[in-house]
Amino acid sequence: MLMHPYNELRLDLKIKAVSPLLIKESRYGQADRERLTADTKKREVMPNVIPISRATQAEIDRAVMNPNPFTAVEAMPFYLPAASLRGVCRSHLERVLRTFDNPEDPRICDPFEDALNNPTLSCSTALTERRKTDAEFHPYRHSCPVCRLFGSTLQASRIGFSDGERVGKTGRLVQREHVRIDRRKGSVTGAPLKFLALEDAEFTFTITLSNFELSHLVLMGVMLGNLKGGNLTFGSGRSKGYGRVALAGSAIHLRYFGLEAPADRILRGVAEHTDPRWSKWFQERYGVQSTSPEKLVALERGDWKQETPWRWELPIALADFEAAWPKLSLNLAGAKPLADRLVAQAHG
Ligand SMILES: [Zn+2]
Repeated sequence: MLMHPYNELRLDLKIKAVSPLLIKESRYGQADRERLTADTKKREVMPNVIPISRATQAEIDRAVMNPNPFTAVEAMPFYLPAASLRGVCRSHLERVLRTFDNPEDPRICDPFEDALNNPTLSCSTALTERRKTDAEFHPYRHSCPVCRLFGSTLQASRIGFSDGERVGKTGRLVQREHVRIDRRKGSVTGAPLKFLALEDAEFTFTITLSNFELSHLVLMGVMLGNLKGGNLTFGSGRSKGYGRVALAGSAIHLRYFGLEAPADRILRGVAEHTDPRWSKWFQERYGVQSTSPEKLVALERGDWKQETPWRWELPIALADFEAAWPKLSLNLAGAKPLADRLVAQAHG
């Protein structure tokens, strides 16, 4: 992780579930139904899948055993775990970047690939392997653009997600029944499965990007644009049409850390640090490429406000952010080919 805090982008987002949203409660499944009762008639009344909440195990057990489980489950404190939001965002950006990638010489790793001879080998495995013979290198330098942002085994993440908190009692719990298919025979079997999910519910969450590179702002812009366009889906049952969300609100804040207020509204990543000693340090240590001054992009509006003696904050309207980020470069071509990660080079 970078020791010296320079910049930060904070996105406070509100999403609304426009189709049933279901992040499954892992503490309640078939084994729990069997644990709770041996009475098959009673089990038929119980739901099969419920959304994740902060209820205790005892509260979950009581709710599903209630003679009217729907009403009892409806009262539970639902939320969206940060890890789920992060996972959706990461895999979405991986997919988008792969469409620009060169399959012959890929630059975006597959975080689940651990075969050393596979060109899309994950950065976690590749860099762990490299560490065996090269103790000196900095993982950030050799990580693919997605791992630079989301982190890997050897590299802390630069992007943080909060849990998604339900806005009041927005939306409602809905029940959907799904037939069970016998995989061997291909025929319908047993009683339909009862899925409880949330519809029209609104959730707020925060994404914080610390010590970003300018290309990370492009990734956030792409993510926001796709969220707005309804192209990000969350949770289970996506093939059944679940998990579609709309962007229902946003507040964006840019922060810089330093004694003096920034002199302008130019977007600067760590490599464009206004102090040339620091920009050089970031570039040399982390292998970050800097953007030439004439290609830098300034925000149209906004005033810096001092939050604490070292922290300056500027609110950015969504429209201004949308106008600014497409002028920045993703510079995917400037990223190192993945094949280079395994080979130790003189500069480490
Ligand atoms: Zn990677």
